[in-house]
Amino acid sequence: MAADAGDGVEFPILCETCLGDNPYVRMTREANGRECKVCTRPFTVFRWLPGRGMRYKKTEICPTCAKLKNVCQTCILDLEHGLPVQARDAALGIESSVPQQAGNRRDYAARTAGSLEVVSGETDFSGRADPAGREMLKRMARKGPYYKRNRAHVCSFFVRGLCTRGSECPYRHEMPEGDPELSKQNLVDRYHGNNDPVARRMLARASKRPSALAPPEDKSITTLFVMGVEGAAGQRELHDHFGAYGELKSVSVASKGACAFVNFTTRAAAEAAAHAAQAGCVVAGQALRVAWGKPRPKGPSAEASSAGAGSGSGTSGRTARIPAPPGAAGAALYPSQDPTAHGASAGSRA
Ligand SMILES: [Zn+2]
Ligand SMILES: [Zn+2]
Ligand SMILES: [Zn+2]
Repeated sequence: MAADAGDGVEFPILCETCLGDNPYVRMTREANGRECKVCTRPFTVFRWLPGRGMRYKKTEICPTCAKLKNVCQTCILDLEHGLPVQARDAALGIESSVPQQAGNRRDYAARTAGSLEVVSGETDFSGRADPAGREMLKRMARKGPYYKRNRAHVCSFFVRGLCTRGSECPYRHEMPEGDPELSKQNLVDRYHGNNDPVARRMLARASKRPSALAPPEDKSITTLFVMGVEGAAGQRELHDHFGAYGELKSVSVASKGACAFVNFTTRAAAEAAAHAAQAGCVVAGQALRVAWGKPRPKGPSAEASSAGAGSGSGTSGRTARIPAPPGAAGAALYPSQDPTAHGASAGSRA
């Protein structure tokens, strides 16, 4: 009941990075040691050293607030993906239901403390519901713990050439990396996903055009290669989806490789479809990966192996025989298109 009233809290809610690489880390525990920086209620504060040469860390927010947003009690990043709340929630399209006024937050946290299962069950922070959001999360997420984040802070005196402590100085004697804007973040804003420059930067980077969708130089290419064609996404669904960008010459689905060639009549239509696919492509509930087709091979065999061209206008069904996808049987064109890469890293984190 009184999970965050101080007693009975055996271990804090922490991400792998904040915990550090030592599985036997020793922690000090202080019941009602401080006020939670979000809801202002006192909570059990833990302190520990997350490895050699690192700085001491402590929990900053209470376990109730951490559970409400599925974040680490220390770094306030998402527990599963290591992402800022704003970046995660933007990718998943989650609207915050936690009140942002301090007084209301305290009441809200008190009311929800006893019914956390209900609350956390309502919001799906892993994005199972939305394939496009899930894709974006995977693109942004860290692949493993980032222990460098636990290092001592940069010495502000050293940066100004004023530190006299030399090797005795507990802070790092290095010039700071990156943007000073990033150090101006405010914990409460980060918790609520407001005005977070790190999140804004990540979202901007994640929404940039992946190289596989940059229009190829060869203007004769009017075909998109689509991977992940499974389940309810079939020839007709692809035809309906991509037909919205312009006239289609053919849609050839290879049910075996779960892929398809979508051949447009004009280059402009293919470019429009490729441009739209940058933000993710979901057809009949399937998250598809889209890439440009390769130029047709020249020579006597060109006729036989030109993708989809021999099969007339959209008459080829699910079982149409098509040539191997560009880059050979099932092989990924780019590392980012490797269908096993993302899944493998997600699995290893669990
Ligand atoms: Zn709190
Ligand atoms: Zn953390
Ligand atoms: Zn110093």
